[in-house]
Parts: sequence; C-alpha cells; structure tokens
Amino acid sequence: VGAGGWSFAQIAQRLSPAVFKFQEVVADRASGSYVWTTDGRKHLDFASGIGVLSTGHCHPHVVSAIQQQAGEIIMAQQNILPASKAMVALLQRLERIMPSSLTSHFFCNSGAEAVENAMKIARNYTGRQNIIAFDGAYHGRTYGAMALTTSKTVYRQNFGPYPSGVNVAPYPYCLHCKTRQAAGGLGYEVAPNVPPLGKPYAERQCCGGPQEALDWMLKMHTAPSETAAIIIEPILGEGGFLTPPPGFLTKLRELCDKHGMLLIFDEVQCGVARTGRWWGHQHLTEAQPDLLLFAKGIASGVPFAGISARPEVYSKMSHGMMGGTYGGSAIGCAAAAATIDVIEGEGLLQNAAERGQQLTRGLLSLAERYPIIDVRGRGLMLAAEFGQKQPDGSLRAEPGTASKLTHAAGRRGLLLLGAGARETVRFLPPLTVSSGQVEEGLAVLEDCLQEVLG
Ligand code: PMP
Repeated sequence: VGAGGWSFAQIAQRLSPAVFKFQEVVADRASGSYVWTTDGRKHLDFASGIGVLSTGHCHPHVVSAIQQQAGEIIMAQQNILPASKAMVALLQRLERIMPSSLTSHFFCNSGAEAVENAMKIARNYTGRQNIIAFDGAYHGRTYGAMALTTSKTVYRQNFGPYPSGVNVAPYPYCLHCKTRQAAGGLGYEVAPNVPPLGKPYAERQCCGGPQEALDWMLKMHTAPSETAAIIIEPILGEGGFLTPPPGFLTKLRELCDKHGMLLIFDEVQCGVARTGRWWGHQHLTEAQPDLLLFAKGIASGVPFAGISARPEVYSKMSHGMMGGTYGGSAIGCAAAAATIDVIEGEGLLQNAAERGQQLTRGLLSLAERYPIIDVRGRGLMLAAEFGQKQPDGSLRAEPGTASKLTHAAGRRGLLLLGAGARETVRFLPPLTVSSGQVEEGLAVLEDCLQEVLG
C-alpha cells in the first residue's frame, strides 16, 4: 500500500535510489512514541528519526507553538531581520541550558552545516589548517564534514578527493581497540580482556593507547602549531554509542589549552537531554568546549541546528563571513524554544535517565539468555552489540546480525537502527517514552533475538 493511488514501488521509482530505505512503507501520521503507516500498521518508534524526536512525534505543545508561529512570521531572514521574537525566546532558553562560557550562538539548518561552520571558525581563529577527528566519528555528508567522517565507507566511497587537513585519532573505547588488536584489524573477535558486561563505565579502564596515540599524532603527524582544533562526539553516535573513559575529554581540554587549539564537541546526536543531561559531555567532564554543535533533538523534527561558542572565537571574523538563507528561521526557533520548554516542564531529563536505566536492565537481562557482547550508552542513547556463540563458548560478532535484528523488529512493528562497524543496534526512543512502552519494545526485541539468534 502506498499513497495517492501509487504503490510503494511507484513512489520509490521516483526517489533517489542512493538513499537507504529501511522498509517499504509510507508514513501516514504519528503521535508520541508511535507511527502509523498507510498500510494500517502501527510502529513503536525506538529510532525517533535518528534521535531527533526528543519530545516524541507531534507533541501538542510543539505543534501549537509551530502553528502559532506560522500565523505570525515563518521566516525572519537573519541578514535582513536579524532577530525575531521567537529567536529571542530561544536565546533566553539557551542561556539556561548551555555551558556557562558558551554565550554566542550561530544558527543553521543541519548538523553537517554546523560542522562546516565550526571548521571555518577554528581555522580562521587559529590561522592553522589541520583538524583532529576520531576514528568511527560521523559528522555529516557535506564535503568538510565527510572528510571528518569515518564511521562507514559507504558515506565516502567514490566521492573523493576530500578536503585535506584531517587527521584521524583512535576513539578511546577499549572493547574496540583491544579487540581490533586481537583480531589483527577487523575487530570481530572478542578478546579476553573485554570489560565485563554491565560494569559501570567508571570501572571500564582504557588501556591508555588512544591517549598516547593523540600525543603521538601531535608529535609525528600534525604539529600543534598547525592544528586548529580537535573535534569529538563526547559519546560516539553512528560509530556505535561508545563512551570515552573518565578523564579523556578533560585531557583533550588540557591539550587544547596547552597548544592554543580549539575544542569542538559535536553534540548533534548525544546532546539535548538525550543522555539524561542537557549535554552528553556533562557525564564525563567539568571542562567546557570552545564550540558546542547541536541539531537533531533541539527542535523536535523541524530542521534546526547551531553552534554555541565562546565569543572570543569570532574575534578575527568580519561581518558577512558566515551566514545562510534559512539559519535561525522563526519557525525553527519557535519549535526549539517549545522543545526546551517541554523537556523542562515534563521532567524529560529525569525520564531519559530512568527509562534509560530500565532499558539497560532489560538488555542486561536479555544478555543472560542471548549472545549480547556489550550494552552501553547513557540515558536513552543506548546500544547493544550482538555476537554468536562459538563452539569454545566465546562470542563472535557475525557480519549481518544487526541488520537481521533490525529487520526482524521492523516486521514486528518496532523501529530500530543499526550502528557502527560491528553488530550494534541503537535504541533511541523519544525522551517522553513510558515505562510500558520500554517493556513493549523489550518484548519485541526478545522475539527477534529468538528468531535471529535463538
Ligand atoms: N554530527 C553527528 C554527531 C551526527 O550524529 C550527525 C547526524 N547523524 C551529524 C553530525 C550530521 O547531522 P545532519 O544529518 O543534520 O547533517
């Protein structure tokens, strides 16, 4: 069943085949944690538009803010009408929720655009060219952002040459770096020194390799004097929801301070209350970045993104060096301000933390019965990595497992996403998800595990 008298095949024929299409469905309507498709099916949404629907689908407060704004002014172009009442309302809210030193805000439309602008700011401010990014990171599909992205070759292949000046350091998560060593590079063998499943992150010690690699990089690959910035996702998103060990982000801050480089936190996926705190890095460090990038969850589905920065970083910019037609549009600002109000008013930071714990407990209990290698993440940014039992009792990740699981879930009306280089499934329910819906999702997942790995 499609729509408008066309079948799904007729619709797909008219869409770019280069965009991955998870299911043959046409969205009809949605509310809260559920989506209905035109074939009459109801789906429990644990993907949230890739972590966008922080307040769930069509939250009444967000809908009415958008409707009201649409009747007043949809678009106040930032060069012509530099601010709107909606933008002021958003600025007032950002002042409450941003780290205290980030008092200057730039608005744009997507995460990738925020990344591009952050690269410009860092290069302009420092007068240096190189940027250090991390292995497995996803920063977007535009050329600069793509050059920083190493979470899957499909995002890059045959699109080169990429802009130069990018150096990629290992992401500090030992399940991956140790297993990669053990497997001679592929990362499909589980090494004996993997941190025990379910152990708190504070006890998951890093081998120290990635810290050393960073020092090595600044000594052997890119001199501090030609390095403009370090960009990191405080909790790695598309790369598989990896959390760095305690102290790592603080060390990055120290390195940046020592060498006059800027520290950029890409919080596009882990930000905006997703992890149970406003910003993902706040679980891991007291240190503040020079630039914080946000998008996705900030406006509950309306395209909206931005950079919050230390004002000093603009000291060498002149008027006109940054901009964009749609950045800071009134409708986007209204949706973002309403989203922040709902997160505050409905206690969604706490709900994200509590439902996240419930989901973690559920996944760990499934791990007693099914071959789950790792459960990780924070709040409602959770992932599980699946293996298959080998004759010697060890678990080995078999390529294709995550995709089989997400498709089995899709057939049962549970929307899930894969992630990362290994067999990882992401759980990103709306921050409004109820305890009953978490149980509903876990029950469907158990059926899928039975089918795929049972
Ligand atoms: N940074 C991160 C951490 C992301 O997860 C994403 C999107 N998955 C982006 C940047 C790019 O955002 P957008 O798709 O809005 O361009």
